[in-house]
Formats: sequence, C-alpha cells, structure tokens
Amino acid sequence: MPLFPLDLIAKRAPTLWRYEEALPAIAHTKRVTFQEGFTPLLPYRVGKLEVMLKLDYLFPTGSYKDRGATVLMSHANQEGIKEVVQDSSGNAGCAIAGYAARAGIECTIFVPANTSPAKIVQINMYGAKIRLIEGDRDATASACKSHVSTHNVYYASHVHNALFFEGTKTLAYEICEQLGWQAPDTVVLPAGNGTLLLGAYQGFQDLAQAGIITKIPKLIGIQAQNCAPLYALWVGKELPTSWLPTAAEGIAIPTPYLGDKMIAAMRQTNGACIAVSEDDIKKQLFQLARQGYYVEPTAACVIAGLEEYARNLTKSEKIVSVLTGTGLKATEKIQLLL
Ligand SMILES: *Cc1c(COP(=O)(O)O)cnc(C)c1O
Repeated sequence: MPLFPLDLIAKRAPTLWRYEEALPAIAHTKRVTFQEGFTPLLPYRVGKLEVMLKLDYLFPTGSYKDRGATVLMSHANQEGIKEVVQDSSGNAGCAIAGYAARAGIECTIFVPANTSPAKIVQINMYGAKIRLIEGDRDATASACKSHVSTHNVYYASHVHNALFFEGTKTLAYEICEQLGWQAPDTVVLPAGNGTLLLGAYQGFQDLAQAGIITKIPKLIGIQAQNCAPLYALWVGKELPTSWLPTAAEGIAIPTPYLGDKMIAAMRQTNGACIAVSEDDIKKQLFQLARQGYYVEPTAACVIAGLEEYARNLTKSEKIVSVLTGTGLKATEKIQLLL
C-alpha cells in the first residue's frame, strides 16, 4: 500500500484520519477522535495579495493542537495508558485534557499561572487536574519534568513526544490535498515551540518523498518581538537576559527546546524568521475580526508576520497560512486591547 493512496483518500470522511497510511498504526476502535481536521482553506486578502488561510481555530478544543492530541492520545489509549501529564501555555493542555476526557484517561496539566482564565476553566471542565506554576513557560516545563521524573505517568508532551508531530504533519497533507495535491510556494506558521512548523515540515517532506509534490514550500516562522529568541538566533543578535510580556501567549517560549531544528527547517526551505510588534498583532487581530475571523492574539501574530512578509515580496507567490486558535479563549486579553 502506498503512503498516500489518493483514490482511497478521496473516498474517506473529511477528517485528518483520512491519511491513515501515513499516520501511526492505530486500530480504528482505539482511536480517540471527534472526527477532527480537514479544516476549511479560505482566501484572505493581505494588502494587495490574496493568500489562503487554514481555519484551524475550528477544532473541537479551539486550536490546531487537536491534530497532535488525537494521534498522541489514540496511541496512549491503544497502549492502555491510564494517566498522562502535560505542560503547556494553555491550548495544548486544553487539547490533551479534552482528548483524555474522551478516552477516559486521567490527566494533569501544568500551566503558567498567568494563562488566560478561559483555558484554565476549559481544562478544569474536562476533568483534568490543573497545576498553576508561577513564572514563565520555562518554569512550567521544569515543574512538569520534575513531576514526570518522580511519578509513574505518561508524558503527553506536545514538545517532547514525537507522536504529537505525527498529528501536526497532517496540516501539510490537508493543504496539499485542498490545492489539488500541489504544494504552495510558501507557508507562514507560528514559531514558538515549533509543533506546527516542524510537523508541517515533516508532512511536506513525506509528500515530496512519495512523489506527490515536487517541491517543499518555503517555511516562514513568526514570533512576537517581545519574546523572539529564534528571531535573534536567525539574525545573529545576542539574546537579552529577559523578555517582555506579549499578547501572543501561545508562542511566548523563551528557550524553545527544538529551536535548532526550527532554524534548520527555515534555512533548508529557503524560508525566513520574522518578528512582529505588539501594535501589529493588535492591528491584525482587529482586521481579522472585522472580516469575521475571531481568533486569539497568537493567531493574529502569525497573520501580522504574513503581512510583513507579503509587503516585501517582489514577485507573486502562492502563500498559505493558518489561524491557529479561537478568540473565545482570550476574551480578557482581547478586552484589554479593545
Ligand atoms: C501552540 C500555539 C501556537 C504555536 O505553536 P508552537 O508549537 O509553540 O510553535 C500558535 N498559536 C496557538 C493558538 C497555539 O495554541
């Protein structure tokens, strides 16, 4: 069986599990799924340029993190795992907690104490235990790792567990299928921990190796200037000793564990890293909402980066980006910007 049996795929339900040959082998009965994925790909105008946006804020728990959660938790379910822990800036915690609830697996989530209240409430509602950690995202990760090393629990990390990336790679599959099994020239993605960027990179590589697409798109990683360690690395700037808060909480990762891999992915695809200001994030958040796209500031940050990338283009390109998370989770933060 080929990795991408296109005729078979076309006949299957519009979910990310339609690419099952390219996903980890999990029995149908063991899948932990809400029939998620195959999100709409819609045209969007940025300045004079028409781009396409994947509406990944429409996933069951409100962000693209469900791509990784459905595959990772299906694996955990198949292995008979009873309890998982995870650390997150919010959305990955919501996704793992939601899918743990679906599977009937016990779950504990570590989050920074300043995470949006809606995400904390959502994690609570799924029945997960929640541990609020003072300090930045790095402090939360350390607290979770020391918990994992002293307890006999499965680490359902979206950063350290390769199965999560097995799910996020479906973004690339869906984009190419929705474009008639062709790759776009450029894909603009968030660059925090890189779970989407590195997953998508793997997905495009899979398709190229299978001979389905002929080139791998340029990958453009977007950061917020207030917390931009990758951008600093990209341009060869010295890292500051501390970072400022940003509205883009989902990508405020001071020391990204997979930073080198993300830089390599952007380099190898002839891509780039862009950092955007808080003003530009706010401006794009409003522009998106005024066209009916109510997303969280982290998602708007990516589109602000897309706008900057598009502004400096000299020739036309087919560009795809993604709206990563719903605005409904960030009401308090958005209200402050209003
Ligand atoms: C997690 C997340 C991101 C960034 O993903 P990384 O894996 O950290 O690069 C972007 N947007 C939203 C809404 C997220 O939840």
